[in-house]
Amino acid sequence: MEKIGKLIVISAPSGCGKSTIIGDIMDRGELDLQFSVSATNRKPREGETDGVSYHFLSDQQFKDLIAEGAFVEYEEVYPGRYYGTLRSEIQNRIASGKNVILDIDVKGGINVKKQFGETAISIFIAPPCIEELRRRLKGRGSDSDEEIEQRVGRAEYELGFSKDYDYVVINDNLAEAISAVEKIMADFIRK
Ligand code: ADP
Ligand code: 5GP
Repeated sequence: MEKIGKLIVISAPSGCGKSTIIGDIMDRGELDLQFSVSATNRKPREGETDGVSYHFLSDQQFKDLIAEGAFVEYEEVYPGRYYGTLRSEIQNRIASGKNVILDIDVKGGINVKKQFGETAISIFIAPPCIEELRRRLKGRGSDSDEEIEQRVGRAEYELGFSKDYDYVVINDNLAEAISAVEKIMADFIRK
C-alpha cells in the first residue's frame, strides 16, 4: 500500500520571517514538499499570480465554495478578508504520498492539526521580541507606519496561540532558524 503523505503547518505573525524561511527550504529542495495554494477573496498584490500565490476568488465564489464544503478550513483573517485551504489542494497529494506545506494563520493551523492529528505537524515561528519585529517590518519597507502598528498588535495576539503548536522556533539568527525548521520537518517526514 502506498505511504500517506504528511501535512506541515507553518504559522507566524507577519514579519517574523515565514516567507524567507519557507522560501529557502523550498528552493533548496532537499525535502520533497508541495505548497498548498490557499483561496482568498482579497485582491492580488503586485507580482502575485492567480493559482500560484493564491486562488483569487470573488466574495460570491468564496461563499459558494463554503456552501459546497470545499474547504478543510477557512478563516476571516482580517475584516471581510477570507482565506481557506481547499480540500482539492491536499487530499489527492497526501493520498499519493506527497508532503504538503501549509502557510496559514493561527486559528486555521490549530484547526488543521485537530482534524489531521498524527498526519500533521504544526510549527510556529516567533520573533525574538516585539521591538525587533517592528524593526524588521520597518526594514522590509512594504508597509506604512499605521499598517506596521496593526501588524505588531496582531502579532501580540497571535503569539498567545503559540503554546498550542507542536514546535515554536524563534527566528533570531536566520540561518539557525532555517536549519531548526528544516530539521523538524525532515524528522517528521522520515518518521
Ligand atoms: P513574513 O513572511 O513572516 O511576513 P518575511 O520573510 O517577509 O516575513 O520577513 C520580514 C523581514 O524581516 C524581511 O525584510 C526579512 O528579510 C527580514 N528577516 C527575516 N528573518 C530575519 C532575521 N533572522 N534577522 C533579520 N532580519 C530578518
Ligand atoms: P496575506 O494577505 O498577507 O497573504 O496573508 C494574511 C494571512 O492569511 C497570513 O497570516 C496567512 O498565513 C493567512 N492565510 C493564508 N492562507 C490561509 C488559509 O488557507 N487559511 C487560513 N486560515 N489562513 C491563511
